Amino acid sequence: MVRRSDVPMKKQPFDMRALIRPDLLELPGYVSIVPTDVLAERLGIAESQVLKLDGNENPFGPSPRALAAIADERSYHIYPDPDQRRVREALAGHLDTDIERIVCGLGSDDLIDLILRAVILHGDGVINCSPTFGMYPFSTEIAGGRVIDVPRLESFGLDVEAIEKAASNAKLIFVASPNNPTGQRMSPDELERLLDTGLLVVVDEAYIEFAGVHGSPASAVSLVRERENLVVLRTFSKWAGLAGLRAGYGVMSPVLASVLMTIKQPYNLNVAAGTAMVAALEDRALLDERACIITGTRERLAVLLDEIPWIATYPSEANFLLCRLDGIDAVEVKDRLAKRGIFVRHFDSARLRNHLRISVGLEEHNAPVIAALKEIGAELGR
Ligand code: PMP
Repeated sequence: MVRRSDVPMKKQPFDMRALIRPDLLELPGYVSIVPTDVLAERLGIAESQVLKLDGNENPFGPSPRALAAIADERSYHIYPDPDQRRVREALAGHLDTDIERIVCGLGSDDLIDLILRAVILHGDGVINCSPTFGMYPFSTEIAGGRVIDVPRLESFGLDVEAIEKAASNAKLIFVASPNNPTGQRMSPDELERLLDTGLLVVVDEAYIEFAGVHGSPASAVSLVRERENLVVLRTFSKWAGLAGLRAGYGVMSPVLASVLMTIKQPYNLNVAAGTAMVAALEDRALLDERACIITGTRERLAVLLDEIPWIATYPSEANFLLCRLDGIDAVEVKDRLAKRGIFVRHFDSARLRNHLRISVGLEEHNAPVIAALKEIGAELGR
């Protein structure tokens, strides 16, 4: 007699895909930028020969005080403060707001994700004003939300009327101001109208330090006390040159802030990032000066680009310029720049197909970029 236990059981192969959320299996990944060493290796050139103008990073790097503070810090073997007390206190002083309104994260990307996790139930609508920063729709979908696209106008300004119409089907709206990749800020009037819709309005000020005259425009942070449905996101990635450390924060209602502090990973802000943020704030005069130099370089680069007959730039209040290319293929130009060690950003979307975004580097970077573009134009018969 053959006993049941003697019959070899045929093991079913474990179906991992059946386990995973079906919507995540279909999700197109976020198209991120590639670090300098990888770009250099791909090209077979030294890292020092790469001109990286694709990530809106700060060409000056971190402030000397931040670098010294990271080197002097002695508590890397100890977990960071889950309450982020020192950093939040420093930020509250810097912004003239209350510590209870501030939450820090691994870049502002972390705050985008946290806010969505706190408020979005499956299928809730989130308004996205394309073209804009790709993390808003990406994180919305991961959180199970539904992206409601309200495209920007021909001028790339917000279509506030269309947003007002869409608001009844949505819970939240993201607006980058200045917007990435188009460069313009929204007006105080537009912000007022968005807030009046009753949506949670997340204003992303990643580039605010490069806006206005001498880098000191009116930030929406001062409105957060009056407007319960306003959240302002800021980052140390651009102004403070700390993109690699991942250091950002949000200013918001204490009710929302307290929930984000509860649901965040307890040690999300690492010791090096926290230390560098505090030191960078102490070095803010130097960082403001650098932002000012970058905006000056931006204006001179725009003039030089606009002198090239097949390029037209859009006015920018950020540390990059969006360029429209006429009668010449943008991907071809991008690839030919890359072969010369110059990296710029192209977006695969219908409205930006013939556009390139060029981050502003140091003043001395303008000439090689312009020379390369002129050479490429000649190669392509322009
Ligand atoms: N917001 C906008 C509009 C951005 O362009 C970026 C980065 N490119 C971010 C947020 C993310 O910044 P962080 O490095 O602070 O995550």
